[in-house]
Amino acid sequence: MHAIDDVVGGPALAQVRELRTPIPGPRSTEMLARKREAVADGVGITLPVFVDAAGGGIVRDIDGNSLIDLGSGIAVTSVGNAHPGVVAASAEQLGRFTHTAFTITGYEGYVAVCEALNRITPGDHAKRSALFNSGAEAVENAIKIARAATGRSTVVAFDHAYHGRTNLTMALTAKSMPYKRGFGPFAGDVHRAPMSYPFRDGRTGEEAARIAIERIERQVELDEIAAVIIEPIQGEGGFVVPADGFLPALADWAASHGIVFIADEIQTGFARTGEMFASTHSGLVPDLIVTAKGIAGGLPLSAVTGRAELMNAAHAGGLGGTYGGNPVACAAALASIAAFEDGLVERARAIGDIIRERLEALRTTDPRVGDVRGHGAMMALELVDPGTGRPDAALTARAAAAAHAAGVIVLTCGTDGNVIRLLPPLSIGDDLLREGLDVLSDAIARG
Ligand SMILES: *Cc1c(COP(=O)(O)O)cnc(C)c1O
Repeated sequence: MHAIDDVVGGPALAQVRELRTPIPGPRSTEMLARKREAVADGVGITLPVFVDAAGGGIVRDIDGNSLIDLGSGIAVTSVGNAHPGVVAASAEQLGRFTHTAFTITGYEGYVAVCEALNRITPGDHAKRSALFNSGAEAVENAIKIARAATGRSTVVAFDHAYHGRTNLTMALTAKSMPYKRGFGPFAGDVHRAPMSYPFRDGRTGEEAARIAIERIERQVELDEIAAVIIEPIQGEGGFVVPADGFLPALADWAASHGIVFIADEIQTGFARTGEMFASTHSGLVPDLIVTAKGIAGGLPLSAVTGRAELMNAAHAGGLGGTYGGNPVACAAALASIAAFEDGLVERARAIGDIIRERLEALRTTDPRVGDVRGHGAMMALELVDPGTGRPDAALTARAAAAAHAAGVIVLTCGTDGNVIRLLPPLSIGDDLLREGLDVLSDAIARG
């Protein structure tokens, strides 16, 4: 078992929740006023505090309030905030050089990250990787690669999908507000298929896959489909875990028609779900796998990794970008991957056991908790009206706000806004995690 002390980063931050002021305190309130005058309104803030330091399972704001972190900056700081190994490796690289543009003059860190990704992603076939900056950028490149490799253009995405905020990834994303409304027209040649959503459709994975495949085959010719893209566990769409058998049936169908199967593991990747990658829960070996978020301990980096013959289909100069695979981000990624391989997968499982036990207890006593789902340190509860079974977004918003006011960072998600998701850093201690869950339970009970 990984010693928690090894992964508690930040300036020796005390691992205790402590509220010195109401949330937000006076300094954060002042900063909010400055933000309003300087930052575009379209860039929102979920929890109105400004951060001074973070590490382990704590985020401390500029008013001295220490909040329990159950969000990891949206599944990014899985190794913890300011992980010592990540800080040391990044600082060392910063002191040597900050940038050359890998496509102009190379450096070892980029190649080493690609080697590591080729090694730790599912499947032992020959692989290649390419590095980018954001998740959306990597998704766009995965689609470019699939199109170049197949000579086809159409892409299939799923209900409740989230793939990013650039033009093509908005087209792939399902939910209109807040991601798409007013931002069209969107990229073409995207078709949508129904997702397996066991809590709502009650279907087996095989049934759900059959329905999805029928729907796709009615919309588009099979020999026009370049790729299907899917999150093995959906993130923003509601932490939807498809029924067993759904993903393998889709993958088999894709393989039999020469369609590239792309797993968007941007939120599920890197130990988060108690496997290095969530595809492994269903024995899936994706043709291409897209990663970002947890990859580099908070520094911006993303990747596409996949079958060598697909990855090599794009001509030289066809993939790249000025900053893709920045050397500091690569150094951070190598240190993060070393931490993931040094016990954090097991740590995610242990965290998952604690969360699941707690949320299941809540579900058996509170009929508004309709579903508890997820794997490892990626767990969620779906809140519904017990009479009608309808999504209860208002209760979800009240519960999240109450948790925030009590000093616990939780995030919501879901097409209907009625899912509370838990994504604690894997560096959080058991006691702090339990305390965070207590606060959340209380917030729901009083909601
Ligand atoms: C966050 C996310 C993206 C987009 O990543 P960015 O870095 O925000 O562009 C894409 N897919 C999934 C599953 C995500 O969770």
